[in-house]
Amino acid sequence: MNCYNHTDSPAHGICSVCRKALCKSCMAEDMASVCCRGECQTKAKNVEEIIRRALI
Ligand SMILES: [Zn+2]
Ligand SMILES: [Zn+2]
Repeated sequence: MNCYNHTDSPAHGICSVCRKALCKSCMAEDMASVCCRGECQTKAKNVEEIIRRALI
């Protein structure tokens, strides 16, 4: 399986938001779950924030 954006790069994970295959350079950093940079990162951050608040 290769990256959704880079068809010549091997995928290192699947985005938890849109389920696309991602290479290392396409993955968002500092996230608890694997996700794309940009829109999916924003969505995943919102979900993490909701979970974090629910745990406090
Ligand atoms: Zn995504
Ligand atoms: Zn990529």
